[in-house]
This record gives sequence, C-alpha cells and structure tokens, in this order.
Amino acid sequence: MHQETDDNDWPPISTGVAIALTLFAAWIAWQHFLTADAWVFIVDNANLALHEAGHPIVGLLSSRLMVYGGTIFQLLFPMVFAHYFLRERQSSGWAASLLWLADNLMNVGRYMKDARAGELPLVGGGDHDWTEIFSRWGVLAHDIRIGNGMKILGLALAVYAVWWAWQHRNHD
Ligand SMILES: [Zn+2]
Repeated sequence: MHQETDDNDWPPISTGVAIALTLFAAWIAWQHFLTADAWVFIVDNANLALHEAGHPIVGLLSSRLMVYGGTIFQLLFPMVFAHYFLRERQSSGWAASLLWLADNLMNVGRYMKDARAGELPLVGGGDHDWTEIFSRWGVLAHDIRIGNGMKILGLALAVYAVWWAWQHRNHD
C-alpha cells in the first residue's frame, strides 16, 4: 500500500459501510439520470426544506440575493458537515457528506434545466429561481447545458466519494 501521508490519520472504513455508501451513490445517480422524476425520496425532500429556508434567510440580508438563497443553503449545509467530518477525521461521515453534496448538485442541475420549460412544480408558489438567475446572467438559452454540467459535476463527486471510501476501506 502506498498512500499519501495526509491520508494515514483517517480511520479505515469497514467493508459494510463502503458497500452501503456505494449503493447510496448508485441510487442517487440512478434516480437523477435514469428516472423521469429525477428525485431522491427523503434526501431531496430534506434538501428542498433547506432550499426553502434559504430564500427568506438570505432575503433578510439582500432582497436582490434572495433568489440565490435556496441554492446557497442546499449546497452550504452538506459542505458544513463535510468540513466538520474532514476536521474530525470521521471517514464514513466525510464520504456520506460528499454524497449528500453530490446529490444536491444533481438536484440543482435538475432545477436549472427547467429554467425555460418551467415544468417542475414549485413549492411556495414563487417565481422559478433559475429563470430569474439565468435571465439576469443572460444565459437562459443555455439552461439545459448548464444544468447537465451541474449534474455531471454531481456525478463526478459521487464517483470520487465512492472511490475514496474504497481507498480507505479496512483491509483486514
Ligand atoms: Zn428556490
């Protein structure tokens, strides 16, 4: 075995946890890329709750930035957890947080892709975040491409998290 010295202080992940993380990654990838809903039950419902909390909270700071608040919150929370587990060297928590972030990237991509079509049901009855944001940026015509890029980024992160988990698996 040859691993970077920084990796040596991570406690190993059991084979069972590595398998569980792999199955979770496969499930979120399947849901986002191979189903019409592109929705991961419970996980994305929780992400939606964070998203909806983000708008009014960011809105307190700036009404102009309020439209970004949902996306900021749903990406910020898994990052905060990932940072905590990274600092505490909690291997399975770190890998799980990366998968949670990966799911959120795919979830944001799903919403981005809908900017022109406007087919997704919107919670709270407000405007479509990405119709507004992409219009401001002048990139509305590229919504599908940008959204797909976001989903691929999420998929790449999920693959990395699974790879990382198996790299740090207990080899007993
Ligand atoms: Zn929103």
